[in-house]
Order: sequence, then C-alpha cells, then structure tokens
Amino acid sequence: MSWLNEFDDRLAALDAQSLRRVRRAVTPEPGARLCVDGVSLLAFCSNDYLGLAQDPLLRQAVHTAVDRYGVGSGASPMVSGHSVANAALERELAEAVGLPRALYFYAGYATNASIVPALVGEGDALFSDALNHACLIDGARLSKATVHRFPHGNLARLDALLAASPARRRLVISDAVFSMDGDVADITGLHALCERHDALLLLDDAHGFGVLGPQGRGALAAAGLTGPGASPRVLYMATLGKALGVAGAFVAGPERLVEWLLQKTRSYTYATAAPALLAEAVRAGLRCVLGADGDRRRQHLAALIAQLRAGLAPGAHAAMDATGWTLMHSDTAIQPLVIGDNAAALDVMAHLRKQGLWVPAIRPPTVPEGTARLRIALSAAHQADDVDQLLAALRSAAGRLVLADAAALQGAAP
Ligand SMILES: *Cc1c(COP(=O)(O)O)cnc(C)c1O
Repeated sequence: MSWLNEFDDRLAALDAQSLRRVRRAVTPEPGARLCVDGVSLLAFCSNDYLGLAQDPLLRQAVHTAVDRYGVGSGASPMVSGHSVANAALERELAEAVGLPRALYFYAGYATNASIVPALVGEGDALFSDALNHACLIDGARLSKATVHRFPHGNLARLDALLAASPARRRLVISDAVFSMDGDVADITGLHALCERHDALLLLDDAHGFGVLGPQGRGALAAAGLTGPGASPRVLYMATLGKALGVAGAFVAGPERLVEWLLQKTRSYTYATAAPALLAEAVRAGLRCVLGADGDRRRQHLAALIAQLRAGLAPGAHAAMDATGWTLMHSDTAIQPLVIGDNAAALDVMAHLRKQGLWVPAIRPPTVPEGTARLRIALSAAHQADDVDQLLAALRSAAGRLVLADAAALQGAAP
C-alpha cells in the first residue's frame, strides 16, 4: 500500500485531538462584523487593530494607485518591480520608526524566514525566545546556525546562554509583542544583553507597529531605541497587514545591515515585488497612524481593552471565577483567555458563535499543550457595546459550564 494513503489516517488523528483546522469564507461588514455563510458575526479575531482595513482613505488610495500603476508589479524588486511608490514607502517607513533605512517586503512570514538566514549561518549562534512566531523559528532552522531557545522572557537564562556561547556572531531574535499572549518583550533588557555580548537583536513588532509607542511608531520607539538613540545593533521588523490594515512587511535598521539584507535576502530577491497599489494603501494607512486620527483610534482601543479587562477581572463574575479560565496579563489588543483543554476551548467558541460572536480558539501547536485559549483581539472598529456583548456571552458560557460540572458531580454521587 502506498504511503500516500496514510494521509487519511493522519487527518483522522487531527480530528481525534480536536486539532483539525477549518477555514470560513467571509465577507466584511461595517463595524468589525463578518458575514459567514449568510450569518453576520461580531468578530474578535482580526489583527486589524485600528480598523484601517475598511477605511475610506485607504480604499481611495488604492483606486488612485490602480489608475496610475495598474495591478501587478511585474518582477522582483531587484529587476523592475521596485516602483517609485514602493521606494517612497520605504523612506516613509524608515522615517516613521526613526531608523536610517527600511526595506519593504510583500509578506511578513517570508521576511523573517529569510532575513534570519541572511544574517547568520553555520557555526554562528541564534538565541530565540520560546514563544517566538513560527516565521522566526523557520528562519532559524533555515539558517543552519546553532539555535539556543530560552524560556519566554527569561533574560537571566539568555545572559547565561550568550556568555557560554563560543560563537563570534550571535543573533538574538524575539517577538516585540507576543502574538498569542499579548505581552511585550523587555526590549531594553534584550538590547542591554546584546551590547554586553556583542550580539545583534532582531525584533518582530508585527503586533506593535501602529499601536504602541508615540504616534504608533512601535515597540522599539516606545523603548527609546530609535531616532537619535537608535542602536547600531538592532534590526526592527514589522508587518503591514495588522494595525496598518493592508498586507506586507518591512525591516528597518542601520544602513549597512539593511544594505546587506537587500543583497542577501532570498525572499526579497526571488519574489515578485509587492504591487504599487498595496504600497500606496500602506502609505495612506501610515499617514493615518501618525496623525490625529491614529491617536483617536489608539485612545478608543485602549478604552476597550480596559473595559474588557475590568469585565473579566477576578471577582467581576462568580461563574467566570468558578471556571478556572485565566485572562493573561496583557496591555495590548491581544487579550487571551486561557481555557486549557482543546475540546473545551472549541466548545466555548461554538457557544459564542451561536450567540453571534466569533472568537477563535487557538490550540497546539500554535500554543503550548494544555493552554488552549480564546484569543480575543480588540480593534478600534469595535464599540463599547460590542465588548459588553462579548462579556455577556462569555458569562453565559461560563454559567453553562458550571451547571454542567454540578450535574456531572451529582451524577457521580453514590
Ligand atoms: C502575522 C505575523 C507575521 C507574519 O506576517 P504576514 O505579513 O502575515 O506574513 C510575522 N510575525 C508575527 C509575530 C506575526 O504575528
């Protein structure tokens, strides 16, 4: 029998562990809603943190760009794909994050998977936070450097690993905001260790750019390591499909490092450049992020985060307390509610869905075993009423669970 038949069993094994993933075809509706199979759902699953993905100014920028540039870029940026729009965006991104130079990529995954191997190789050493995003992990694997994983946020352990490493070239890689936990890395601490051990720091700020720091300039700006205080040993990477509302990514940093990446990053050289219409949409998003409208959106988002956290705080609701669910410590738009068991997380998700809410259950391998969670993502596109609706639905899911537990206990009684 051909080994290809085993794929049926392997898929069945995913089903047995509640690990089979399914996609839904969606149509956006106004106000953080998505239409799924004809049903309108209030969505808490998008990384569109500022509500820019549906913004009229960005739409208009695309219309104008299509008329001027057409649709496709036609080639790699190293050949003829580097539009004047993409070039202008790179200058504006560098300016926005307060670093000398930026390189604009068509996608964030491809950026990290390929800048890491451009920076280090066999015989070099990589130091990676245990909760880093998959694309940093894949970049580390592709690099063939020796990978040292340190426990999440444990800088003492990182210090010891750096001290013990005989490698001359060392690269520390970390998410700036952890995508499934919502916490922010100790960037000042990471940078200090890199200085002490002559290491280079690569930060992935996919979830911070646009929302954190002064005018949304990102987590590195918030840490004071940009502008006049820019460090020669930091590369800053961020994506443009989250708070910026479009798609793509960029890496920014010192001139010599960015020039090296331009020369050696395979996903930059061997991929078709992002279309100018996307670059123009990002430029419009960036103007919004850096302006008064961006401040207004960030303030609104901060108020929603505070409202949700107050509603889920211990003591706020008895049935919630009885479930043992834990809201993780996070000040960002990512507010994970850890449920633990995969099937239980899916069950709560289904209960919310019946009430018209879409909150994704995230399971292993995306998160560690036994920490399946609802990843609640808030957006400036939400209203206070939306958060109230979510809190009510979570409380009813909790109440249902507590009742089921009580029934099970009674059933078990002699
Ligand atoms: C989403 C994400 C990426 C990937 O970016 P894409 O542009 O979606 O490919 C990279 N890193 C982190 C931390 C992310 O959350």
